[in-house]
Amino acid sequence: MNDSFVYDIPTRLLFGPGALDKLGEETLPGKKALLVMTGGKSAKATGAYDRLLAQLAKAGATVAEFPKVEANPLRPTVMEGAARAKAEGCDFIVALGGGSVMDAAKMIGVMARNPGDLWDYAFTATGGNKRYPNDPLPLVCVTTTAGTGSEIDDGAVISDDDRREKPGFMDHRQFPALSVVDPTLMASVPAHLTAYQGFDALFHSVEGYLAGPRTLMSELYALAAVERIAAHLPRCVSHPDDLEARTQMALANTLGGFVMSTGPLTSEHAIEHALSAFHHALPHGAGLIMVSLAYYKALIGKGACPGRFVRLAQALGRPTATKPEDFLDALAALQRACGVDALKMSDYGIVPDEFPAMAKNARDTLGALFACDPAPLSNDDVVAIYQRSYR
Ligand SMILES: [Zn+2]
Repeated sequence: MNDSFVYDIPTRLLFGPGALDKLGEETLPGKKALLVMTGGKSAKATGAYDRLLAQLAKAGATVAEFPKVEANPLRPTVMEGAARAKAEGCDFIVALGGGSVMDAAKMIGVMARNPGDLWDYAFTATGGNKRYPNDPLPLVCVTTTAGTGSEIDDGAVISDDDRREKPGFMDHRQFPALSVVDPTLMASVPAHLTAYQGFDALFHSVEGYLAGPRTLMSELYALAAVERIAAHLPRCVSHPDDLEARTQMALANTLGGFVMSTGPLTSEHAIEHALSAFHHALPHGAGLIMVSLAYYKALIGKGACPGRFVRLAQALGRPTATKPEDFLDALAALQRACGVDALKMSDYGIVPDEFPAMAKNARDTLGALFACDPAPLSNDDVVAIYQRSYR
């Protein structure tokens, strides 16, 4: 536990049902936006796209579009987006979408202002391990999912398929200038994606609460988020248009972003990133769900912070919890309640022969997270976590 922390989250946050429709009253950080999206189909179908364009026009901004971001965004997409921002003379970026879009938008803004290739600035085995010299273009995020917390943190996760690396790019200059968290945008997210994203938000807070170097501030946010997710995620999955549940999940997710902005995570995220670096179609949240029970069981088996696991079990809705294993039971029950207890690695083409290379990749790419684990995990431990999670 770290009694000292720096609180420096410079993002202005508009939160609540209908928040998007107030964006036009804000002073935007530029005059011409590069609007970053996935294909844009769902944003157009739900009305989010039209609502956003109306607000940008009201605020006096013009827009060039880059509707090309894939799930688990890739390095070439970032470079293409940056080239487009430069060609169009954009002076800020607007992200409309989930974590993939917001993360790509962050790094598009970086590469629109900086020389070379994105991987020059990756801190990985094959990266250039350099800090970029110039401030990114300012960013406005409009999140359409409750999962990554990217709207309120300074991290971005980008994959390079050729290198099989999926690092986080962290820099204080990557905080959005302005973010909109409007739960009315989330009602159209399909049930299975709602669950994957909700568990990503859960693990940001669970890992943040267990991390050795957590701070007084990050643990406050983490417990508040875990309680909300346990109470509301199953409702969001079973009743997608339950606005009260969506609002609580949106808040829990944003709280998870605050957790990551005031303290570290642990190696569960590194272990998952290796899975989806090797198998690009695997959604991040699904990968986390697949390894989670074996991961936490391994930590509990090493005697890591039993009292904190009990407290997490209580936050997950088991007030009478007395032992760390109660956390595993509560986590398994939440996975059943959200219909994600039967996910299989083999459905995504993962084979056990890959596990030693994945364990190495996890440590090479996101080694700092292992240093935050409440008990040390060896490479063999990580391979065993993959093996126990495999089906
Ligand atoms: Zn995550």
